[in-house]
Amino acid sequence: MKTVSPQYYNEFRCIADKCVHNCCIGWEIDIDEQTLSKYSLLGGKLASKLKDCICKNSGDAHFILDDDDRCPFLCEDGLCELIKEAGDDLLCDICNEHPRYHNYYSDRVESGIGLCCEEAARIIVCHSGKISLADNGASESCNEIERLFFERRQNIFDIIQDANSSIDEKLHILERRFSFKCPSLSMQECANILLHFEHLDTNWPKLLRALKSSHCDFAAQPLTSKWNNALSNLCHYFIFRHLPCDADESEFCAVICYAFFSLKVILALTMCNSDFSIDTLIEIARMYSAEVEYSDENYDSLIDLLKGCKYEQ
Ligand code: SF4
Repeated sequence: MKTVSPQYYNEFRCIADKCVHNCCIGWEIDIDEQTLSKYSLLGGKLASKLKDCICKNSGDAHFILDDDDRCPFLCEDGLCELIKEAGDDLLCDICNEHPRYHNYYSDRVESGIGLCCEEAARIIVCHSGKISLADNGASESCNEIERLFFERRQNIFDIIQDANSSIDEKLHILERRFSFKCPSLSMQECANILLHFEHLDTNWPKLLRALKSSHCDFAAQPLTSKWNNALSNLCHYFIFRHLPCDADESEFCAVICYAFFSLKVILALTMCNSDFSIDTLIEIARMYSAEVEYSDENYDSLIDLLKGCKYEQ
């Protein structure tokens, strides 16, 4: 089985105490069974704190967040008490893996780093030049359905990574190639859709409301071309992570639409911000990912909404 990942994958290192939007704040952290059994073998002060800070519910277990929504093992200095006391060995799977994600195929595991982590977002957005996929491990042959899927997906990567075309031109090429038409939504309509979703961060709806009432010229070409590389990296990320091999054509095309919908919203929210710097783009992309991509409910609603984009030839 080989592993395939974007070439930036191994650049990721958690920045821990330097992280502003620490993933140990505000997210429920589930604990896998193997780690739970490790905890049950411990003794001493750490064992009794673990016992007090874990909620078990019909087979599931998670850490009980404190009143400020922080993991009880997140120290004031931004470091993890479990790592400080016992090293990486006591980390549950989620803490060990985050923000990495994996997609499984018959001949490979494809892995990437998730945009909701600020360090991963920086690496993805700032990668210079085209992103290629690196593979490691023994090559086996995939099945025919997957082979065709990888071929089609590579075709999409080639189009979205063309440095000479704008986001709109790339989308039009893909629409023609795969016979779909993304709904032409104004930024006000996009903001409205997202305002109806569940929210994680109270600042997110404020940004969306500002977008809804903005008079910004979202078609401003000089700004978008300045960020062409960053935007094509984000587009590559959305496609690599979400394009499904086993879905029907309407879902396949909906995910391509989703990638472009996401780019346009991230770009518009960045342009609404007074400094529209690359740091703002990274922060908006991180927030968008946490709000839309990391909520199954929100993500599924958006895909359902975009499924009607496919038309018969
Ligand atoms: S969000 Fe990313 S960089 Fe920050 S603590 Fe979590 S894994 Fe580390």
